[in-house]
Amino acid sequence: MNELVERFCEMVRIPSESGEEAEFLTWLAGRWREELGADCRFDGYGNLIATLSQQDSNSRPLLLCAHADTVKPGTEIEPVLEDGVIRSRGDTVLGADDKAGIAAIWFGVKRAGRRPPLEIVITRQEEVGLLGAKRLDTASLRAEVGFVLDGEALDEVVIGGPSHFLIDVTVHGRAAHAAMAPEQGVSAIKAAARAIARLPEGRLDHQTTANVGVIRGGEIRNGVPARATVQAECRSLSHDRAVELADLYRRAFEEEAAALGAVAEVKVELAYRAVRLDEDEPAVVLARRALESLGLSPKLRLICGGTDASILNARGIRCAVLGMGARAPHSTDEHIRVEDLELAAELVKTLLEIAG
Ligand SMILES: [Zn+2]
Repeated sequence: MNELVERFCEMVRIPSESGEEAEFLTWLAGRWREELGADCRFDGYGNLIATLSQQDSNSRPLLLCAHADTVKPGTEIEPVLEDGVIRSRGDTVLGADDKAGIAAIWFGVKRAGRRPPLEIVITRQEEVGLLGAKRLDTASLRAEVGFVLDGEALDEVVIGGPSHFLIDVTVHGRAAHAAMAPEQGVSAIKAAARAIARLPEGRLDHQTTANVGVIRGGEIRNGVPARATVQAECRSLSHDRAVELADLYRRAFEEEAAALGAVAEVKVELAYRAVRLDEDEPAVVLARRALESLGLSPKLRLICGGTDASILNARGIRCAVLGMGARAPHSTDEHIRVEDLELAAELVKTLLEIAG
């Protein structure tokens, strides 16, 4: 087993489900101090920030980012290497998402012949709403360009993502006995249902989606329900379109509730804002050159999900997302080919040598 595979397996054996990353990150900081000579510190939220200066380099500092946490079930992971593929025993995820990204950074840095000054950020709680990135102390960072190693296919460069709104609705009706005095009640369920029935859902155009994911309401069969709650979301690669849609959702609940004599409280929160890198920006140019020099043909992509890049871009660090090779992430079938693990590390190494 080579060193990269060995380290990768060592990493996935240390559990780091979202919120429980401290042990893993402390271990990683120790390894990186020793092996990479990195200056490792933790910000106020517990994100790891590793800095590697470069005395004789005039290049601009570059940011590399991956996330420490895994989804569940992610404890007692036992990696199994068979026929060039690493998987879990089958009862947990593997944790290649995103420890393959961390391994790619680790060995890319270690193997690079030259490189620019680096700021490496390993975030916490990415999987539960990009919480680590949102609380990351970006003011202490100097890099203006970077890469997030958390994508899928290794020949893809993600250059943009959507604005994502979280919509939380509470409808307040009025309780009454359903048989003795139904006229005195106002059904919160009915109000919510009327709004949902009138709202567009699913894929609304090539860059926009909306969904009502959760509805809860009522307490007893023979009571007019006084309360119903709804969790919905909408996303669009166009920020304006997402704003418009979130507003449409808000109005539908408010109006349908009012029409029945109920009241809808609607909370709309922007989880992250749409970003789109230009094709001639440094992150995109660099990624393309690195992939081409590895014999791959880069594909530029927009995705409908959020990554740490959504947050970093909004803070002015222009980041593209690169693949790290994990297959079937977020499932107990998650696996990675050793070949892809090597290629991801090679990609980081090549990027650093070009940027250095
Ligand atoms: Zn991930």
